[in-house]
Amino acid sequence: MSECIFCKIASKEMKSSIVYEDDEIVAFKDIEPKAPVHLLIIPKKHISGLTELGKADELLIGRIVGLSKTLAEQFSFSQCGFRLVANSGPDAGQAVEHIHFHLLGGRKFGWPPG
Ligand code: AMP
Ligand code: ZN
Repeated sequence: MSECIFCKIASKEMKSSIVYEDDEIVAFKDIEPKAPVHLLIIPKKHISGLTELGKADELLIGRIVGLSKTLAEQFSFSQCGFRLVANSGPDAGQAVEHIHFHLLGGRKFGWPPG
């Protein structure tokens, strides 16, 4: 997707602060952090959101969830707690139409979210 900013980050056409990368996934720092650590985990493949996931993406999404655990350990908030969030659609405030998972840690979070 030529105009997608997260595709551009995945392809390094756009600069970002990458903390993890493999052949399928990139994790980078959110440009407007909502917590002391705020990472975005994305597949390199363009999928516009949760509603566009197919059966063939299940392994990929499982790998992203598994990576959130590894990154939480690396950033030292695995034991005290953290949040993994995916916003879908306008009511949830999804601003970027390339599926992404927010990994937030380093502070206490309220529930329910606003
Ligand atoms: P969402 O509202 O769930 O779509 O979240 C999109 C997130 O992407 C927001 O938290 C933004 O701060 C973040 N974001 C937008 N552009 C960039 C960028 N160029 N680099 C890093 N994070 C970004
Ligand atoms: Zn994209």
